[in-house]
Amino acid sequence: MALLEVENLHVSVEDEDIEILKGVDLTINEGEVHAIMGPNGSGKSTLAAVLAGREEYVVTDGSIRYKGEDLLELEAEERAEEGVFLAFQYPVELPGVSMTNFLREAVNSVREARGEEELGAADFLKLVRERAKLVDLDPDLVKRSVNQGFSGGEKKRNEIFQLAMLEPTLAVLDETDSGLDIDALRTVSDGVNKLRSAERAFLLITHYQRLLDYIEPDHVHVMVNGRIAESGDKDLAIRLEEEGYERFQREPAAA
Ligand code: ADP
Ligand code: MG
Ligand code: MG
Repeated sequence: MALLEVENLHVSVEDEDIEILKGVDLTINEGEVHAIMGPNGSGKSTLAAVLAGREEYVVTDGSIRYKGEDLLELEAEERAEEGVFLAFQYPVELPGVSMTNFLREAVNSVREARGEEELGAADFLKLVRERAKLVDLDPDLVKRSVNQGFSGGEKKRNEIFQLAMLEPTLAVLDETDSGLDIDALRTVSDGVNKLRSAERAFLLITHYQRLLDYIEPDHVHVMVNGRIAESGDKDLAIRLEEEGYERFQREPAAA
């Protein structure tokens, strides 16, 4: 079954007459890993933001269905409860709010939506320790305020750690690889690979092919000027690394 069906999606920025997404079509089935690559400014993060339900973007045409239902009808929080995970949906830094409380609330609201029992303090900490291991994250970091004083690499590991805690059905990772050194990249990729399953799909958004050396995608798409210009398998990513995006940008957009 198609998990996510994006059809002819047109998106503009509120208050501005600029169309950013100009008819995006994308279908993701359960368990598939898709990568969206493309030059800066092509609309990749806008697609992620619209999936997250960020309000500065307006859908002017087209549709997004998730598990057969209209995703655009759901509030950002409801999307999370339905199993959509977007790394940047979680705040960058929240001084005074401990990761423990923040995460426990997030985990329990997702569990409640799935009809599962709330986790008590002890079971929660057990889960924290188990999932922190996946990304080599010091479980003591969870006692700190949300992301406060985290290094760049720790923040990225923390994103994957949150993913592991929330057990989403669709995980969208926007530029999770940017700014990572090779060790952190490997750790984050290993974490994602361990979390791949027949039920869990990933949408990886990345400017560079390097992440895809570690996480082998089922499908690769190139976004150029607000549209998917080409789709293929992992070989497309390798070709893009060699050729760059120039040939797409020289071609006039299809009418
Ligand atoms: P990418 O992630 O592929 O680099 P973005 O989705 O961030 O691209 O941006 C696509 C285009 O939309 C860019 O030209 C960017 O300047 C513009 N854009 C994105 N968000 C906004 C916004 N909130 N207000 C105005 N322009 C925006
Ligand atoms: Mg169109
Ligand atoms: Mg971006």
